[in-house]
Amino acid sequence: METRNKLYEGKAKILFETDDPNVILQRFKDDATAFNGKKRGTIANKGYVNNQVSAHLYRYLSSYFIPTHFLDVVSDTEMTVVKLEMIPIEVVVRNIAAGSLLKRSDHKEGDVLPVPLLEFFLKDDDKGDPQISREGILEQELCTAEDLEILSRLALKTNAVLKSFWQRRNIKLVDFKLEFGKNHEGKIVLGDEISPDTCRFWDATTDEKMDKDRFRQDLGQVEETYEAIRRRVFMEDHLETE
Ligand code: ADP
Ligand code: UDP
Repeated sequence: METRNKLYEGKAKILFETDDPNVILQRFKDDATAFNGKKRGTIANKGYVNNQVSAHLYRYLSSYFIPTHFLDVVSDTEMTVVKLEMIPIEVVVRNIAAGSLLKRSDHKEGDVLPVPLLEFFLKDDDKGDPQISREGILEQELCTAEDLEILSRLALKTNAVLKSFWQRRNIKLVDFKLEFGKNHEGKIVLGDEISPDTCRFWDATTDEKMDKDRFRQDLGQVEETYEAIRRRVFMEDHLETE
């Protein structure tokens, strides 16, 4: 592809414009950050893994009629996606207690939640991405009540679809973060990425952590674990029953 203007460079990805005003190119970087940017490093081949994993999961979600921004993989670390007007909310779905939930509840790490828990965080690095209520979202006019209803339903459906996808690959989908935006027709679409950077994955047999927590908590074998997740995504799906 030809040289394109950079639209945005974030912590994990760079966005470039393309010839089509409704399409952007998303390049995944090997750079890794944690604790709101306080911990920094690189994970070799992370860009490749996150591009491949996200592409496969978006294709899979589309087959369940979940609208995503994904268009095409154009290189090892790049995909084209529909340009969205992002809603500045991080939507977190949890199946098992881990991470920041442990500080805000009596749950111990590993507690299976009776129902999937939906949480919202304001996407604002300067404020440290604080948790925000549904009422707070509406009061700050981050999106409309109808948008919030739609994206909540899409997040829970994404969880149901991905939970069973990973279960068949012997992985527990502990929790994950999604971002949504609106396309040029105003329709709500799932954007950003779905990868070991944005999900917690535990091996279903050993409970071994297979995601960015290996980087966050200095558990070692970081690159190897990202690659193992990539391989499991592409594992033959013998148990597919749907
Ligand atoms: P951050 O901005 O948190 O540092 P990234 O490095 O992942 O994160 O940057 C990617 C940025 O692109 C995010 O701000 C995300 O909201 C935004 N984004 C994701 N998908 C799209 C899309 N389809 N259209 C426009 N922006 C998007
Ligand atoms: N997450 C993310 N980006 C963020 C914050 C969280 O992708 O800026 C993901 C994280 O990887 C985990 C889920 O969202 O899968 C829930 O994260 P949590 O609230 O437990 O926060 P953290 O552990 O990052 O403090």
